[in-house]
Amino acid sequence: MYLSAANHRIPLSDGNSIPILGLGTYSEPKSTPSGVCLASVRMAIDTGYRHIDGAYIYKNEHEVGEAIREKIAEGKVRREDIFYCGKLWATNLVPQRVRPALEKTLQVLQLDYIDLYIIEVPMAFKPGDETYPRDENGKWLYHQTNLCATWEVECHPYFTQTKLLKFCQQHDIVIVAYSPLGTSRNPTWVNVSSPPLLKDELLNSLGKKYNKTAAQIALRFNIQRGVVVIPKSSKPERIKENFQIFDFSLTEEEMKSIEALNKNIRFVELLMWSDHPEYPFHEEY
Ligand code: NDP
Repeated sequence: MYLSAANHRIPLSDGNSIPILGLGTYSEPKSTPSGVCLASVRMAIDTGYRHIDGAYIYKNEHEVGEAIREKIAEGKVRREDIFYCGKLWATNLVPQRVRPALEKTLQVLQLDYIDLYIIEVPMAFKPGDETYPRDENGKWLYHQTNLCATWEVECHPYFTQTKLLKFCQQHDIVIVAYSPLGTSRNPTWVNVSSPPLLKDELLNSLGKKYNKTAAQIALRFNIQRGVVVIPKSSKPERIKENFQIFDFSLTEEEMKSIEALNKNIRFVELLMWSDHPEYPFHEEY
């Protein structure tokens, strides 16, 4: 499939399509000044990104909505050009809380619809307005759910998900890879004992060959095999850099050698919830 900066949507089995590159917007709410996300989304749309990944609990969804509305008002894009993915948090998995949670997201964004709404984590927490519910002893308050475990998939050269990708391709399912650059390595939720992806020797040497960075090689690897990527950055030069992945391609041999980097390293392990009955990572996929 030919992907270009101007046209990089890939088809979905329901007749819709999704841009294969999106901007991630998660940034630690406590340490991120207000306005950072607004500026990033503005910059991303100006650069050519048409897919934005966000969530109500990122606490910056209002800034995402503001930037999208602003760019529509400027005539830079139409609403239908933008693909926004929002997320249903773990305290809202009981069916009667789904619609109000989505309506809240629409109200915060000040948009009429979103393009995709996914289950953020497939483990239900006690329903209510407390985002991270715990009892008086600090123990997490879980909730029983019979939801099929449906989730986005961490995916990058150290966690290539070959088996899952093959299964999904056989069933016309598109994978969206979160943390495609190996995360921000925030020790509160990331396993930082694992090697940093962007320091990888092969990714860097291929970067030299193509006059690209290791990040661009990691992103190109995934889009070239049909996996959607949503790298996060709030730095203008990196937002642009992460978009410059449509003007080169990796050879079949290089794709194979990147695939061979797989170490089954999952950076986002969420071990604090590993005793949840629905904890998804005990299973192979
Ligand atoms: P990424 O793999 O996208 O990495 C982001 C980190 O890489 C940031 O620290 C960023 O820093 C840095 N970075 C960005 N571009 C470059 C570059 N070109 N060179 C070097 N460093 C770079 O991690 P995320 O975990 O943020 O994943 C992406 C998005 O996926 C999230 O923002 C969120 O939208 C979504 N997500 C969803 C999850 C879920 O549970 N459903 C879980 C995790 C993520 P800086 O900003 O300073 O440039």
